[in-house]
Amino acid sequence: MQFTQRTHTCGALRAANTGETVTLNGWVDGRRDLGGMIFIDLRDRYGLTQVVFAPQHNTAVHKQAHELRAEYVLSITGTVQPRPEGMANADMPTGEIEVIVDSFEILNRSDIPPFTIEDDVDAFEDLRLRYRYLDLRRPVLQKHLLLRSKVYQVVHRYFDEHDFIEIETPVLMKSTPEGARDFLVPSRIHAGKFYALPQSPQTYKQLLMVAGFDRYVQIVKCFRDEDFRADRQPEFTQIDLEMSFIRAEDIYRLIEGLMQRMLKETIGVDLALPLPVLDYYEALERYGSDKPDLRFGMELVTLNHVVRGAEFKVFSDALEAGGIVSGISVKGRAEEFSRRKLDELTERAKDLGMGGLVWMKAAGGGLTSPVAKFLTDDMIAGIRESMQTEDGDLILIVADARRKLALEALGTLRVELGKELDLVDRTAHRLLWVVDFPLFQWDDETQRFYAEHHPFTGPKPEDVPLLDSDPGAARADCYDLVWNGSEVGSGSIRIHDSALQAKIFSILGLPEAEISEKFGFLIDAFRFGAPPHGGCALGLDRIVTLLAGISSIREVIAFPKTNKALSLMDGSPSTVSPDQLGELHIDLRKTTP
Ligand code: ASP
Repeated sequence: MQFTQRTHTCGALRAANTGETVTLNGWVDGRRDLGGMIFIDLRDRYGLTQVVFAPQHNTAVHKQAHELRAEYVLSITGTVQPRPEGMANADMPTGEIEVIVDSFEILNRSDIPPFTIEDDVDAFEDLRLRYRYLDLRRPVLQKHLLLRSKVYQVVHRYFDEHDFIEIETPVLMKSTPEGARDFLVPSRIHAGKFYALPQSPQTYKQLLMVAGFDRYVQIVKCFRDEDFRADRQPEFTQIDLEMSFIRAEDIYRLIEGLMQRMLKETIGVDLALPLPVLDYYEALERYGSDKPDLRFGMELVTLNHVVRGAEFKVFSDALEAGGIVSGISVKGRAEEFSRRKLDELTERAKDLGMGGLVWMKAAGGGLTSPVAKFLTDDMIAGIRESMQTEDGDLILIVADARRKLALEALGTLRVELGKELDLVDRTAHRLLWVVDFPLFQWDDETQRFYAEHHPFTGPKPEDVPLLDSDPGAARADCYDLVWNGSEVGSGSIRIHDSALQAKIFSILGLPEAEISEKFGFLIDAFRFGAPPHGGCALGLDRIVTLLAGISSIREVIAFPKTNKALSLMDGSPSTVSPDQLGELHIDLRKTTP
C-alpha cells in the first residue's frame, strides 16, 4: 500500500518550522475534542506532536477525524504553526508548535488496547508482558532500550580502542562450570546426547587465550536454569572479556575506564577513578556484605575487644566460640525507635538467623538498654568511643558464634534501615571493587569444598602453599565490581598451569574420570603453552537498570520472562508435538503435571 511518507519525525518540529508543510507518520496517542476542534498527539519513538483537525480550516478532514481512536496509525500532512498565546507546553520538546491538518490517511486501525500507552500505566505487569509490543510503545520503555543500545555502542567503541577482538562463541556447547543448572538441548542426530546452553563462555574464552587472541570481548547471552529468584532472568546478557599477560590491576584499570566512559556518555555522570578496593573480609566486617552499598555510612563496628569479659551470656558465648559482636548506629534518630519498632527489628534479626538483637540508646553520656546492667562503665564508654556515639544515636548489636552469618544479618539490617530512613543518596553512583574472596567454600552437608567463583580461578600467588596445609584459608585472585550495592561483574586471574589445575580439581573432590569427561579438552589445551590470563564478565542488564535509576531488570529487556521464567506473550515454555519429541528420542514421564 502506498502512503505519504513522513518529512519529519514526531519529535522534530520546532518554532523555526512555522509555515512549513510537513507530513508525520505515527500512532494516535490520545484524542481530545475541544471547542469544536479535534486534537491528537501523534507519537513515534522520537516524541509527540500535537496535530489539530479544525473545522474552519478543513470541514471534511475534521469530520473524518471523528473516526480516529487510540493507537490508529496515521499519515498526516499539514502546516506547522505556533501554538496560540499561552498554550505552549514547555515539558514537550515540540510544545511550541502544532500542525494544522490538511489531509490524512489511516494507515492501520487498532483494537482497543488492553491498557493505555503511557508512562504511568496502572495495568498489572502480567498484562503488560502479555502485550509486550504495546508495553514497548510506552516512552519510558523506549527510553530504557535506547539507553541499552547506547551502552552496546560504548562497549563496542571502548574495547575496539583497546585492541580487543569480538569473537562469537557457540550457543550449543558442552556443559559449563558456573555452578548453576544448565538448559539442555537434545540432539536429534545423536540419540540420547545433549548440548547445553552456555552459562557463560568461560571455557571458550580461555581457549581463545590459548589460541593467542590476547584480548577477547563479546556481548553475549548466557543461560542459567535457577529456581525462582526475584529479578533474575533465565537468559541474561553479559559483557564478557578475557586478556592474556595481565594481572588483576590491569582488569581494574580497563573496566574502570569503561564504567567512567559509560556513565559519562549515557547519563552525563562523572566517575572519579581509581575506584576503591576492599578485600572480601574487610567488606564483610565493615558492611556485612560482599556487595556493600557505599551511598551511605552506618558502617559495622566490631566490638569484640570492648565487650570481652562482659557478664552478658549472648556476648560471652559468641566470643568464647570465636564469633563476633558487631554493631551499627543510626545517628541522631533514637527517638524515632519506639519499643514496638525495636521489637520489629529484633524479629527481623531473628528471621535473618540471629538469636536476637541488642539495642542501646545513647543519652546523658551513657547508654540506655535492657543489657546495660551487664556492662561495666568502661564497656559502655568503650562502645560509645568505638562507635563514635553521640547522645540521640541508636545502636544495634548482634552477637553470634557464626561470624559470617552475624555480619551478614547486620549488613542486611543496615541496608534495610538505610532505605527506610532515607539515608541513601539516590542520585549517587558509588562503585568499588571487592577482591580476594576465599577460593573455596566448605559445605557441611556434602562435606566438601566448592569453588567460590569457578574452578578455573587461580589462588593468590602467596596463598598457593595453603592449598596443601589449609585450603579453606586460601584466597582467590578474583574481583567483583559492585555498584550501589549490586554486584555487576566478577572475574578472576585464571589457572594456566595443568598441574595446579589438577590440584584444584582434587581439592574439589572431583574424580579423575569426571574431570577428564567434563574439562579434559581444557586441561589438554593448557598443555600446549597456555599464557597467563584472566578476565571478567559484567551483567549488562543490571548495569542498564543502574544507569536508568530503576530496580527491575525486566524494564530494560525487550522481551523478558517473568520471575517464574515464563514468557507470557508467546506462552513459552510450551508443550511440543509427540512427533517432535519422537525425533529427539524423548519419552515424557507419565506424571500428572
Ligand atoms: N564466567 C564468569 C561468570 O560468568 C565471569 C568470569 O570469570 O569471567 O560469572
